[in-house]
Amino acid sequence: MLGAVVSSHSTLRPRECSAATGPSIAEVPGPSVEPVLRRVRSLLLAVDADLDASELAPERSLTRDLGFDSVRLGALLDRIRQAFDDVDLTPWLIEAAQRGDDTIAGLAAALAGSPARADYVALARELAAGFAPRAREYDESGRFPHENFAELVASGYTAMTVPRRHGGGGASLEEVCRAQEALATGCASTAFAVNMHIHGVALLSAAAGSTIEWAYEAIVREGALLAGGFSEPDVGGHWLRSTTRATPVPGGYRLRGTKGFFSGYPASGLVFLSAAIPDERGVESPVGFLLPRPAAGIRVAAEWSAGGMRATGSHTLEIDDLHVASRYRIGAPGELPLLFMRACHWAWCSFAAVFVGIAGAALEHVAHSQRRRTLQVVSGPLARLPGVQFRVAEMHVKLAAARACLYRAVRSVQDEPAADPLAHYIDMSLMKTTVCRLAHEIVTLAVEVEGGSGYASVSPIQRMYRDVAAGLLVPPVTDVTLEWAGKQALGIPVLGEPRWAV
Ligand SMILES: Cc1cc2nc3c(=O)[nH]c(=O)nc-3n(C[C@H](O)[C@H](O)[C@H](O)COP(=O)(O)OP(=O)(O)OC[C@H]3O[C@@H](n4cnc5c(N)ncnc54)[C@H](O)[C@@H]3O)c2cc1C
Repeated sequence: MLGAVVSSHSTLRPRECSAATGPSIAEVPGPSVEPVLRRVRSLLLAVDADLDASELAPERSLTRDLGFDSVRLGALLDRIRQAFDDVDLTPWLIEAAQRGDDTIAGLAAALAGSPARADYVALARELAAGFAPRAREYDESGRFPHENFAELVASGYTAMTVPRRHGGGGASLEEVCRAQEALATGCASTAFAVNMHIHGVALLSAAAGSTIEWAYEAIVREGALLAGGFSEPDVGGHWLRSTTRATPVPGGYRLRGTKGFFSGYPASGLVFLSAAIPDERGVESPVGFLLPRPAAGIRVAAEWSAGGMRATGSHTLEIDDLHVASRYRIGAPGELPLLFMRACHWAWCSFAAVFVGIAGAALEHVAHSQRRRTLQVVSGPLARLPGVQFRVAEMHVKLAAARACLYRAVRSVQDEPAADPLAHYIDMSLMKTTVCRLAHEIVTLAVEVEGGSGYASVSPIQRMYRDVAAGLLVPPVTDVTLEWAGKQALGIPVLGEPRWAV
């Protein structure tokens, strides 16, 4: 029933259905300090991951008790500016530190009443807690998680990357990644499928700005969701060489082709497609289209059925004589690769975040299960075994490496478009490949630690193992990434032909 509401999004009002379907967006009301205190604590934890939440009592001083130096105070002020509509607390902090009362409570009081932005990371944690108990059923049945999607829409999560001037959350890349990482701990399929929407909207906003105002409106007001289809059976992950043809016709284009995977399609109200437009000499220019999901001209040719990410609804679609008006074209013909390379961080970082989330959940599961489970021959919890300890340590260090690699890349992204789009694309692709390989290694270690019981259907570890493998398969293609990065490092023209010349 809820699924039907999401699919026929035209009547859906996200705010109206929130009470019935899920948690409401974490907004900070007027002058009340308690919610601001919670927000301040989460900002402190984001600045310093080594802090323990239990240390963050209201009376504790930032400088004296928590040891915040000028670097961490600067980072905290930046986060406050992002979270509270450009509020600058520098003068307050200087005075409070001189008076010796730069406490957490004082900071919250100074912020109370300031208009706060939604805390998508906290919202993702809240949503993930509700999704986790349903994850097994969705995985086993392969059903699309319409119930979860209704909650994502109702809570405002799906407006996260719509620009603020168009009524959305205008979330930063770091917020998106941290939120998606948290969401994936509850249900990886849901996080992966909604990621197509979350990053797709951000990418389109970078590429098309206000020209897609109609789509922002549909997302914010009607709860519309976007699904994207770029890969095709004949080109695999090399989707910039689309075999879907867009033939110019009066007023637009006629599209024909096959899209191999289309995650989130069952809930979608908007589709983002790639195609190639042939010119008069037969030379083809890659182009993207964003359009309302059409009633005719697209059909599901094969329902998604796979080893992992089973509830993503990544159907194969047949596009047959689909008429698309010119106004739905994104950029000029041939511009798509450049538009994508410049904004690829939205895609590759958010993909990586989902797989880091799965790996983190696997580590957490193992850390709990090994403390509880005992074997007669061991005469104590399995956590006492050296083999378990070594593997858990390895999982820890690999997770730290994966997060460091991901968030270093996230922070390297500038507001201005990259001066060298190809180098930017290679950097981000290498990061995604590295992080997803680490995530896969972490979950593989989790299977070894759990033993045969972790492989049984009742264990969430076997689901995580199947889900995390998708990180090795989703774009960018690993071999192409390594080829491009290797050539770049060796001073060989990355796109030179012939490809493997000596
Ligand atoms: C769970 C899941 C969900 C997905 N959802 C979407 C979606 O919503 N939208 C979408 O567009 N796509 C989606 N994809 C597809 C994904 O983007 C890849 O395009 C897809 O996995 C490609 O699979 P393939 O078998 O066609 O070929 P590939 O994985 O591209 O290739 C098969 C083999 O050939 C190698 N290879 C491929 N190309 C080259 C090359 N140029 N040079 C050297 N080696 C190469 C690869 O390394 C691999 O060994 C999804 C995939 C998965 C697994």
